[in-house]
Amino acid sequence: MTNPGMKCSRCRGPARHRLPAHNARFCDQCLEVFLQRQVAKAIKQFRMLRPGQEVVAAVSGGKDSLVLWKVLLDLGYQVRALHLDLELGDFSRGSLDACQAMARRLGEPLMVRNVRELLGASVDQIVAANRREFCSVCGTLKRHLINRICAELDVDTVASGHHLDDEAGRLLGNLMRGHQQYLDNQWPVLEGLRLNGRIGLARKVKPLCRLGGEEIQAYALSLDLPFLEGRCPRSKGATLPYYQQAVRYLERKMPGTRRDFYLGFLRRKGGPPPPPEPAGTCNRCGAPTYVELCTTCRLLERTHGHHAAGGGSPRMACGPRAVSAPDSDSPGSHARTGN
Ligand SMILES: [Zn+2]
Ligand SMILES: [Zn+2]
Repeated sequence: MTNPGMKCSRCRGPARHRLPAHNARFCDQCLEVFLQRQVAKAIKQFRMLRPGQEVVAAVSGGKDSLVLWKVLLDLGYQVRALHLDLELGDFSRGSLDACQAMARRLGEPLMVRNVRELLGASVDQIVAANRREFCSVCGTLKRHLINRICAELDVDTVASGHHLDDEAGRLLGNLMRGHQQYLDNQWPVLEGLRLNGRIGLARKVKPLCRLGGEEIQAYALSLDLPFLEGRCPRSKGATLPYYQQAVRYLERKMPGTRRDFYLGFLRRKGGPPPPPEPAGTCNRCGAPTYVELCTTCRLLERTHGHHAAGGGSPRMACGPRAVSAPDSDSPGSHARTGN
C-alpha cells in the first residue's frame, strides 16, 4: 500500500493507505477519521441509531465486527458486545480469544453466550440431525438467539459488521439468481417487531455498509486490533464469497463501482422494506412465527427426535403445520443468501 513520498489527502503528512474508490491517500490518523465519518454517515443516511443509543453489537472476533465495536464506541454509542460461542473447535476458541482480547483492549465488558447451553444441542448436532446446509442452519440459530438475547436485555437494536463487499456481493448474487424476496428485503436497516410488549425481532443495522473490506482491514491493521483471520471452517459450501470476489475484481479494475452498485440500488429502491407483519408466537419458545413452531424449534425438534430414535428423550407432539421453505416462517427473519 505504501508509496514513498505519498502524501495524506487530509493532513499532507506521509500517507500509508491508498483508497482508490475515494481518490484519497491517508495516514493512520486520517484513516481513522475517514472510517468514523463513513460509519456516522451511514448511520445518519439510513437512520440506524439515535445519538448515544444503546445497541447490541454482534462480535465474532473477525476484523469487521471488532472494528464495528470500536467505531460505535468512538462515536458515543452504548455498545453491548455479544459473542455467541458456536463450539466449532479451534476456530471458535480463536474467535472467543480475539473478542476477549478486544474487550481488554477497549476496557469494555463482553457478553459470551454458549449456543449449546442455550439450545440444549450444539450447532454441529443440529446441522447433522437436520441434514441441511451448515451456514443456513447456523444463521437461523444465531438470528434466533440474538433476538432472544436482545429481548432479555431489552435492547431493541443489534448492529452487525456486514460491510460493502458483503452487501454488494449479496446484491449481485440475489440479482443473478433472481431472488426477488431477498432483493425486496435488502436494506442496511431492517425494522424489528414487538410481541406483547416484548422484543420479538430486534432491529438489524449495518453501520459498516459504506466501507470496503480492505478499508476496514487497513484500519484494523493500523491499530493492531487482535482480530482472528480466516473463514469459518464449516462455510465451504457458501456461495457468497464467489460473488464478493467478483465484486472485488470489478472494484480493482474500476474503483468506486462497488459503492455505486450497492448505494445506487438502494437509491433506486427509494426506501426500506415495510416492517415485518404482526405474527403469532411459537408454541414452544414464544418467538414470532406464522406457523406453530418457529424454525429453530423445528430444527431442535428434529435434533432431539433424532436422539430419541436412539433411545433418548421422548419426542414432543406437534400438530399439523403450514408448508414453508426454510427460514420463511419467521417474519423478517432476514434470511439472505450466504448469511
Ligand atoms: Zn493525515
Ligand atoms: Zn420456537
